[in-house]
Amino acid sequence: MIVDYNGKRYSTENPCECSHCHKVGEPNLVIGVSHMGIHYSIWTCNWRECRLNFITRHDIMDEQLVFIGYLDGTPQSPFWPETIVSLKSKFIVTYLQSLKAENLNLDEIAGMGYRKSLEYLVKDYVISRDISLSSKIQNQKLSVVISNNFKSDKESDLKQLLERATWLGNDMTHYLKYHDNFNIDDLKQLIKLVVDEIHSITQKIYYIENIQSKYTKKSTNQP
Ligand SMILES: [Zn+2]
Repeated sequence: MIVDYNGKRYSTENPCECSHCHKVGEPNLVIGVSHMGIHYSIWTCNWRECRLNFITRHDIMDEQLVFIGYLDGTPQSPFWPETIVSLKSKFIVTYLQSLKAENLNLDEIAGMGYRKSLEYLVKDYVISRDISLSSKIQNQKLSVVISNNFKSDKESDLKQLLERATWLGNDMTHYLKYHDNFNIDDLKQLIKLVVDEIHSITQKIYYIENIQSKYTKKSTNQP
């Protein structure tokens, strides 16, 4: 893409991913316009089942065009294991809203949203294991729920991941920030690890409990 602005010529790679269908390809440029140091362009996706238009924003810096993001479309959802989907928690919808906010460069809002999604995930997971805890933990602080409900050895890693995700999430929600070296990507990575760990623990319990040895029975039949 070539952009002429204030007597200078800038060039950069075309966007290669459609913000609607997320197929990677070579979209067609429809039109571009520059205004107050920002270049907006409209593209048409080439994927035959999509063909939608999407808008990109580039900031015109000293010597280059810097891709900032898409102004429409929907961010690509991460893959959620069945263990997480079956919780029927507001975790997923809250996470996706946060992802959309982040996609619009609303990173302060997104950070708070990810922290909220984590709270839904943790509380709904605990309730799914023991419905009697429902009314008790709904009003509890997230840190208290984590500290009271993940005490077994097999949940040791999960507990530590949850604590760290909560610390980073709190940094994005409260006035003071305590973990300067970590950002929103680290919080998302921790949430992904939490999701994977919950799925792994649940699957392990299911298979260990439901597949019983047949060899004992056979051996008793032997003469
Ligand atoms: Zn598309």
